[in-house]
Amino acid sequence: MALIVQKYGGSSVADAESIKRVAKRIVDTRRAGHEVVVAVSAMGDTTDELLDLAGQVAPIPAPRELDMLLSSGERISMALLAMAIHSMGFEARSFTGSQAGMITDATHGAARIVDVTPVRLREALDEGAIVIVAGFQGFNRDTRDITTLGRGGSDTTAVALAAALDADVCEIYSDVDGIFTADPRVVPLARKLDRVGSEEMLELAANGAKVLYIRAVEYARRHGVLIHARSTFSSGEGTWVLDASKKSPLVPEGATMEEPIVAGVATDLSQAKITVIGVPDVPGKAADIFKIVAKSGANVDMIVQNVSAAATGRTDISFTLPKTDATTALKALSGEQAEVGFQSLVHDDQIGKLSVVGAGMRTHSGVSATLFEALSLAGVNIEMISTSEIRISVVVRGVDLAEAARLVHTAYGLDGDAEATVHAGTGR
Ligand code: ASP
Ligand code: MG
Repeated sequence: MALIVQKYGGSSVADAESIKRVAKRIVDTRRAGHEVVVAVSAMGDTTDELLDLAGQVAPIPAPRELDMLLSSGERISMALLAMAIHSMGFEARSFTGSQAGMITDATHGAARIVDVTPVRLREALDEGAIVIVAGFQGFNRDTRDITTLGRGGSDTTAVALAAALDADVCEIYSDVDGIFTADPRVVPLARKLDRVGSEEMLELAANGAKVLYIRAVEYARRHGVLIHARSTFSSGEGTWVLDASKKSPLVPEGATMEEPIVAGVATDLSQAKITVIGVPDVPGKAADIFKIVAKSGANVDMIVQNVSAAATGRTDISFTLPKTDATTALKALSGEQAEVGFQSLVHDDQIGKLSVVGAGMRTHSGVSATLFEALSLAGVNIEMISTSEIRISVVVRGVDLAEAARLVHTAYGLDGDAEATVHAGTGR
């Protein structure tokens, strides 16, 4: 008997029929003799609809009330799911985030889990019940208010529950078959991976892959939670997200974990680039600039500084950040232009980021040459480059991104034999 945590995304519980289908899957797992804890998202596009509604009654909804509102979405799906399970003759009990002991900090809209005290869940399991928990929400002990974890937060709920209950596996169900070597909507010949290293998964998620949320992957790595990404709509084997150091009896042997040089290609159109032109080339200026940007709340990703022109003693600094942060960052920088002494700012929101990720990069040379060669054959200009130990990222024109991704995917030998089936899905 294992303790299995399952997470079902919004598209898996979009209507009554889907809820019944999910209930059946849960009951089948229980029938197989396992203890089951489920984290569930709000039905379909409920969260977006609630957000939209909030925007109609207030230009800037109060964060506390917004969390009250959004957390109601998951209450609906958890109760319906428990009812559906009852009608199949099984005992199920639903719990809100606070009942489940999801303790977070007080940051409305982007709360971080600080503790999980699943006392009531453990009791319910001991009494033989299936446990259903509302994803995406928590409770702060100081303010005694309901919080939410940020969009896509139900993945994190599931992983945190798995860690706190010492579950054998955390199954993340969505409407795609697992983790692919690239987004199949961008690269039709993308292949589903049977397994991927957790470190690679972290880089893929951080660089645009949307199947798993980065905070959930981080949490899983930190707490040694085994993630299994699967589809609600098929019985395929999905993808195991593995820690090289950890073994689990649940993971099928067979295809041994051969370490591919490149595991996948991630694409991201959500970033913008800001260039600060004519920055005095003296110590302290980069510090000034990025202090201002950080204070504006923007999350900087890549940074490039050009060589300075000897004649002028000035240099240009470019960085990328989420498109949604760009306006505030630009405003903050303009406000301090005189103090910092730069000449002007350029905002470019037509960029695309392509990243190649693979643990094998550590021990293989020539990985970046293959990337640059593929881009050069495609006539795609590289605007910025950054690397980590297991990743190379380039910024290109946004319009070139899809074509570049296909060619790079082919260049690394990642193409499958046939086009991947793309369900209508969003990966959630
Ligand atoms: N319902 C929330 C959202 O749509 C949380 C989730 O789906 O994971 O972002
Ligand atoms: Mg959702």
